[in-house]
Amino acid sequence: MENTQSSTFCILPWIHLSTRPNGHMRVCCTANASSVGATNDKVYGGEVGILKNDDGKPANFNHTDLQVAWNNNYMKQVRLDMLNDKIPASCTKCFKEEAAGHKSKRQWETAFWSKQVDVNKLIEDTEADGSVPPMLQYIDLRMGTKCNLKCVMCSPHDSSLWVSDWHELYPEIENPSLKETMQWPNAGKNDGASYNWHLNNPEFWTQLYTQIPNMKQLYFAGGEPTIIEHHYKLLEKCIEMGYAKNIQLRYNSNGIELPQRLYDLWEHFGSVRFHFSIDSIFEMNDYIRFPSKWETIEENLHILDKTSKHIEVTIACAVQMLNMYYIPDFIKWKINQNFKKINIWPLGAGLINYHFVYHPGHLNVKVFPQYFKDKIEAKYNDFYQWLEDNVADQGNGLYSRSDFINAEYGIKRLKGMVQFMQSEDWSVRMPEFLEYIEKLDKIRQTTFVRIFPDMAELKEFRL
Ligand code: SF4
Repeated sequence: MENTQSSTFCILPWIHLSTRPNGHMRVCCTANASSVGATNDKVYGGEVGILKNDDGKPANFNHTDLQVAWNNNYMKQVRLDMLNDKIPASCTKCFKEEAAGHKSKRQWETAFWSKQVDVNKLIEDTEADGSVPPMLQYIDLRMGTKCNLKCVMCSPHDSSLWVSDWHELYPEIENPSLKETMQWPNAGKNDGASYNWHLNNPEFWTQLYTQIPNMKQLYFAGGEPTIIEHHYKLLEKCIEMGYAKNIQLRYNSNGIELPQRLYDLWEHFGSVRFHFSIDSIFEMNDYIRFPSKWETIEENLHILDKTSKHIEVTIACAVQMLNMYYIPDFIKWKINQNFKKINIWPLGAGLINYHFVYHPGHLNVKVFPQYFKDKIEAKYNDFYQWLEDNVADQGNGLYSRSDFINAEYGIKRLKGMVQFMQSEDWSVRMPEFLEYIEKLDKIRQTTFVRIFPDMAELKEFRL
């Protein structure tokens, strides 16, 4: 097939596959956020972005063959749409973000991988029906839900620690839309799924190991990879097979447990990109990333700041209702730390990195009522000036004032986030947000209005 230079092309369906912790396969880690909107009426039906087998059931590593799923009708159609200027239903999220002026995952992933992979060849090798040779170069592995935190925006779908809170919370929920959002049907075991899929299916490992010679990146995220034994076993296997030096490891981790074994294994790999998930500062982060302790986060950040050169460390902030207003304060804190390597220029323009929370919908930043969105926008406008006055001239030869002001991931990124927040009105979900926070506070003995005083006025919101 010729390179059509299609306007909807994304490289990921040609090189990558992503997993859910229950073994479901998906086009990429954010594709299934495409169905989240102002209400739960999913335009494209539930679980968009999850690969479906021909019987309409999700492809799952607990029982589906990796190589068959890679070229099943769902994946083939995604590729064909992308070569023909069509937006696959699984990918509407990226295009909505782009329309709101935000750089999407499609854009940054395609730019990153196009430097390492021959895109024309990938397209040439695509058959007329959308199938491609089975050569996986980048995989996102989520091996179950074992986690040591239960973040506010998470759920038992991704964190084992959430299970007991869910059992207390779910029966108490009154709002029907919130109740639907917070479902956990059959404790995650529907359609043959299992949080132990990686233990149940030896064939998966046989097939994955045949892909290791092609592999350029192994990406680990939730549960918490640093406490999941199979993550370590896979690293050891790559070393044993002699391919570790060709592989980049990438993590989204809460950074709570960083044992010496991890650093020892990392030494064998080509490079490591460690995205430390931190969403705010001090008690606000402890509330969001419950029950973490800020002292541990700070301590581990400073340990990571002293690691060897082939380990890149960034702060990955999941932007949502509870932290959007406070992100300028978070950035000021980060600047004051004077880290040697964490998000130093040009990473996130020397500030921090961000991605949006889509699920659960009631924590998406589009939910704020208009007057509060305007209050946030005014705070950000003052902050851009502060950055220009206090940071733009501090490049010490690394960057110029104009480099800083025009950096894609600096002020422009923050402006894109505000534009994204303002792009749609989801305030119909405010009652869900308030009920969720109030009921979670009761279970966790936390106090939203004390920890986020500038947001206390939201409690008075009425539709
Ligand atoms: S277009 Fe976006 S959602 Fe679709 S595969 Fe690419 S990065 Fe994922």
